[in-house]
Amino acid sequence: MNLPEKPFQYKMLIDGNWIESESKERYERKSPAHDVPVGEYPAATVEDVNNAVATAHRKFIEGQWPKMKGADRAKIIGRVGDLIRKNKEELGYIECLESGKPITQAIDEMVWAAGIWDYAATLPYHTYGDSYNTLGENMLAMTIREPLGVVGMITPWNFPLLIISQKLPFALAVGCTTVTKPAEITSGTTIKLHELLLQAGVPAGVANVVTGSGGVIGNCLSQHPDISMISFTGSTEVGKKVLQNAKSNVKKVELELGGKNPQLVFADCDFDAAVDAVVFGVFFNQGECCNSGSRLLIQDEIADEFVQAVIKKSKTVPIGDPLDPKTKVGAIVSESQFNTIMNYVKAGEKEGAELRLGGKQMITKTGRYIEPTIFDKVSPEMSIANDEIFGPVLSVLRFKTKEEAINIANDSIYGLSASVWTKDIDTAITLSRKLEAGTVWINTFMDGFPELCFGGYKESGLGRELGHFAVEEFTELKTILMHTGPRDYWWKQPEK
Ligand code: NAP
Ligand code: MG
Repeated sequence: MNLPEKPFQYKMLIDGNWIESESKERYERKSPAHDVPVGEYPAATVEDVNNAVATAHRKFIEGQWPKMKGADRAKIIGRVGDLIRKNKEELGYIECLESGKPITQAIDEMVWAAGIWDYAATLPYHTYGDSYNTLGENMLAMTIREPLGVVGMITPWNFPLLIISQKLPFALAVGCTTVTKPAEITSGTTIKLHELLLQAGVPAGVANVVTGSGGVIGNCLSQHPDISMISFTGSTEVGKKVLQNAKSNVKKVELELGGKNPQLVFADCDFDAAVDAVVFGVFFNQGECCNSGSRLLIQDEIADEFVQAVIKKSKTVPIGDPLDPKTKVGAIVSESQFNTIMNYVKAGEKEGAELRLGGKQMITKTGRYIEPTIFDKVSPEMSIANDEIFGPVLSVLRFKTKEEAINIANDSIYGLSASVWTKDIDTAITLSRKLEAGTVWINTFMDGFPELCFGGYKESGLGRELGHFAVEEFTELKTILMHTGPRDYWWKQPEK
């Protein structure tokens, strides 16, 4: 695969029109693997955001989309899934160029994202409330679900199309209108997706996109009085700012944030399967993964042998040019992310952990790559045991008993996901019930399905995405009470 001759040119979508920013300013994105420009975007201003929100708000009030029959919305959303599959190569190519992730993985992600749209297309048929026939002879009541209104969506750079696909089809399914702000450095596929939405028949102005800096646009969206909900995926630090801003009009907030996810490996595990899952868990997507299995908790009896096997396998993983179909680990997304990761490597060494593999920048002609890095003998107070590094760095902590394992695992501000590796059903079930995590995998890692909800405990998030739970996230409940028969008067005027 080759690099594009010229950077792709993008515009923003507001009210069905492809437009420049009010300021006419544009910014450029370079491929983190090749150092050449691959995309150019309008830099949105607050005025642009206000226009986008005004459009989405007007569309919601006019009601064409929210009041459309569920079956008709379902057809449109289903068509988007088909269009993503049809365009998976182009979308995957853009994603690979902007994020630095391997091309084969990027294309797989498009297929996965399409499957989420397929699933969400069933939800307009399942958006309903309850009825109450137990309130006495003269009373009947129901609760109905109504779309919340305008939803602002803010997404990160690590899985751009996949993450917007965990939000947008669900909000659209229940009848919301939207304004999306993708990460500044990886906005290409989100813009392409909006082209596909128009092709599929989503009416103009129902789904809008603005591009540019989070500090300007994200901040404006999360404060905006005409936005009813923010669905945010990103760091815990920025998530807290969104929460703070959202109080201005008491908007609903859904947050998918960071993680420091432990894989708990017991001596009786399927050894080779667990080794593979540990290597995959931490190096997949260069470790730039909210679900990264960045902590290995290994039982003492097998620790030396297991860590040795993880190191051996890690050395064979193909790292390099993300456009090469054989590559499994690509480039680090940005210079600032690269520096963050390298600073944690330094901290790990300084705090006394044992660096067993990697820890250095790979020497390449272009781009920024970090060698798969493994720290052994990490203790729970070290920064590399606690902080989300968001890079290819594994921290190994050892334990003796189940109790010790669960204490180490739960001793974190995060609670996104975890895994347990054992053949003992008692250990597997007991631990998965004790783990403070939104998802627990037993003898597997990082699998997901559109029908299974996803989200975090503790500072890993608020609310859930995916599954029919998403219907609850994007709707408001209304209670309606109805009286039949003669009224039981509060005060009856005495007869003269
Ligand atoms: P980030 O720095 O928090 O940015 C996320 C988004 O927020 C970007 O679009 C960013 O815009 C925007 N933003 C920045 N400042 C803002 C502000 N003041 N108000 C509103 N929005 C603002 O996260 P990232 O570096 O892109 O992604 C890495 C993080 O995402 C990690 O912590 C990871 O764990 C988390 N993540 C979580 C999940 C999950 O499902 N739980 C999934 C993936 C990633 P710009 O960057 O364009 O300026
Ligand atoms: Mg960031």
